[in-house]
Amino acid sequence: MQRDKRIVVKVGTKVITSKERSLDRERIKDIVGQVSDIRDNGIETILVTSGAIGAGMWTLGMKRRPSKLEQLQATASIGQNLLMQVYSEYFRERGYIAAQILLTQEDFNNRSRYLNIKHTLETLLKHGAVPVINENDTVATEEIRCGDNDRLSSLVADLCRADRLIILTDVDGLMDEEGKVIPNVYDISAKILRLGGKSRCDLGTGGMATKIASARAATKAGITCVIANGRTKGVLCRIVLQGERLGTTFESGKEKYAARKRWIAFSSRPKGVIRVDEGAKAALCERDRSLLASGITSVSGDFSSGDVISIADSEGREFGRGVAGYSSGEISRIKGKRSTEIAAVLGYKGREEVIHKDNLVIL
Ligand code: GLU
Repeated sequence: MQRDKRIVVKVGTKVITSKERSLDRERIKDIVGQVSDIRDNGIETILVTSGAIGAGMWTLGMKRRPSKLEQLQATASIGQNLLMQVYSEYFRERGYIAAQILLTQEDFNNRSRYLNIKHTLETLLKHGAVPVINENDTVATEEIRCGDNDRLSSLVADLCRADRLIILTDVDGLMDEEGKVIPNVYDISAKILRLGGKSRCDLGTGGMATKIASARAATKAGITCVIANGRTKGVLCRIVLQGERLGTTFESGKEKYAARKRWIAFSSRPKGVIRVDEGAKAALCERDRSLLASGITSVSGDFSSGDVISIADSEGREFGRGVAGYSSGEISRIKGKRSTEIAAVLGYKGREEVIHKDNLVIL
């Protein structure tokens, strides 16, 4: 049985929202109780919880999730406060201190902020507190959003080097075509991705697809990921303390990405897209080459050299990510050109590769 030292538990909005769409206090109390039992057993636990927007909607009597950014941000501001009150109250009853952390994508892009959070988390855990994390929805605009809390939870699991990420949702796990739960996934293949379908949810933002993407990020960091039903009785304790196999376990693969590649592939947000021809795609995917200007057919977005960008095939499907060696303006001038022509086009001698293979990840 896997013996964890540190785990990250993600709780979805649907798990902690009642039929009337208010916060399901009993459920939160139950989850807090299980986390406390796990803590009592010496396993450090970090919670990533959604539910701020849902709780805010309920408080304001809204029937539908607002679509305007400022409405969403105001709703989250009201709901986050309520959410934290409830968590704090139940943790206090069990003798634990809940510590709120609100993060955005920028905290993962910026190295010094990233390290700060890491140190804060370690300090909180040393104090015996339980960090309770959500996206900072009140300040997060589209460009700086992590996107969904599934993604946020895998970023946090990687940041704090957790042994296991447990994503609690309102279904029993990843289902096959017949609706049976798949107990183990060793390889996140195209078939598995198809089973995830498209993401859709009116209260939160996730869905099975974002959970699989997070499982992929976690497993590439050497972290096992479990997707399980948050409403199953004693689910967390049964998985973590009794070693029961509930839900779907994505086994951490042998093929781990190094920290820099994980940052390129999962932690950062691409600032633009480069489309390449079939020849360049084959060179990158099959021959482990760098991306040269000659294979680039188009560029979109406004980025600088050093930013992470997405690499798409001729049909616009993303198949890789990398750190740009040139800005978007420069790439639009040198695309399709041979490396020997770059100096003449730009008027200065730049590097040969647009994305060096060391800065490139095939997804
Ligand atoms: N941060 C959002 C909230 O607390 C939820 C995002 C998500 O569900 O993925 O309401």
